[in-house]
Amino acid sequence: MLLFTNASQVVTCAGPARARRASELGDCAILTNAAVAIDGGAIAGVGPRDELEQRYAGAERVDCGGRVLMPGLVDSHTHAIFGKPRYEEQELRAAGADYMEIARRGGGIHASVRDLRSRDEEELYGLASGRLARLAAYGTTTVEVKSGYGLTLDDELKMLRVARRLSESQQVRIVPTFLGAHEIPLEARATPAGRADYVTSLVSAMIPRVAADGLAQFVDVFCEPGVFTVEESRSILSAARQAGLHLKLHADELRPSGGAQLAVELGATSADHLAAISHDGIRALAASETVATLLPGTMLFLGKDRQAPARALIEAGAAVALATDFNPGTSPTTNFPLILTLAVSQLRMSVSEAILAATVNGAAALGIADRVGQIAPGFSADLALFDCDDVRELPYWYGDNRCRATWVRGLACHVRTEAQARAGNA
Ligand SMILES: [Zn+2]
Repeated sequence: MLLFTNASQVVTCAGPARARRASELGDCAILTNAAVAIDGGAIAGVGPRDELEQRYAGAERVDCGGRVLMPGLVDSHTHAIFGKPRYEEQELRAAGADYMEIARRGGGIHASVRDLRSRDEEELYGLASGRLARLAAYGTTTVEVKSGYGLTLDDELKMLRVARRLSESQQVRIVPTFLGAHEIPLEARATPAGRADYVTSLVSAMIPRVAADGLAQFVDVFCEPGVFTVEESRSILSAARQAGLHLKLHADELRPSGGAQLAVELGATSADHLAAISHDGIRALAASETVATLLPGTMLFLGKDRQAPARALIEAGAAVALATDFNPGTSPTTNFPLILTLAVSQLRMSVSEAILAATVNGAAALGIADRVGQIAPGFSADLALFDCDDVRELPYWYGDNRCRATWVRGLACHVRTEAQARAGNA
């Protein structure tokens, strides 16, 4: 048993064990002079320090040193398994090249696919575990990881086996998602029937195999004009649902196509991106259980002047979550607190809204809000300690790494030494 004391604030995010909406997002439940007790990987108690010190007199103490203690961040959208980075594309974009131009030069998702297919499982595992450590170093304790750079049965299974190994060997909680519908592979684009054949192979071969092997909890589709149509996305996700898997959707990222409405129609757990969502899409999400996951780092990195309409979504009553979209092409950041900065400065969210969107609602976007995302009795002891007096400093010191330590299921995950903290190193 551990007793966390001497935090400047304990940001509990405590409340209903489901996604928060509208005015519920206005209060992330901050306690002062509070302590947190954990036992066997779960939160045992949270409340006034004096009371808990008496109740848990025999517990080992963790001195929080006047820092902010809060639930670990829940990153519900990443593509953390990949081979080489794609830094060449950044200058091409700066010089005016668009997505199609970059693809013509051999860049984009197809470049990551080519590269990933050439690497073995061991190599990918090594690369991904380093990247996972970086995500954890910024205060993240749960990471959703997608496949989607293989686009053949064998290469997709290879990615998902890497995710399973990460989950078995690393402290951080991993949630695996099958994204075989990330793009139509080049070899399928080369023949007239290739496209339909690829969708058929997803539906009748890949999804059943992934489900049978228990390699993913979610199936995701990149539903966007030029990638997968709404009809193709519907058939892929319907097959996933039939196979007993939960659903996610890359929806309305660059152009509105009805992706958000499709996510609601199919009962998807989340619809992600939404920078180009329509008014009908906002209304549909607001009236549903589907979480609206916003990824402001992507729009920033791509140099777009548009961001998802977070205020309209929140005011309509949608459950908004935030995530990094960590990937080699359009959001190569592992810094979740930086995403909180963007949420406040670009999406006009309050700090409380951003914190709840990155914890409780991130957990809801992964279907685990009943056990992850808040400091309340019975919840998993997934905690993050930040070098701040006040939680409002977390989005304020932008780009900085203030994370001092994290715990996952009650066990220390990332720990930064005093010297590292002073030097500002992760
Ligand atoms: Zn994505």
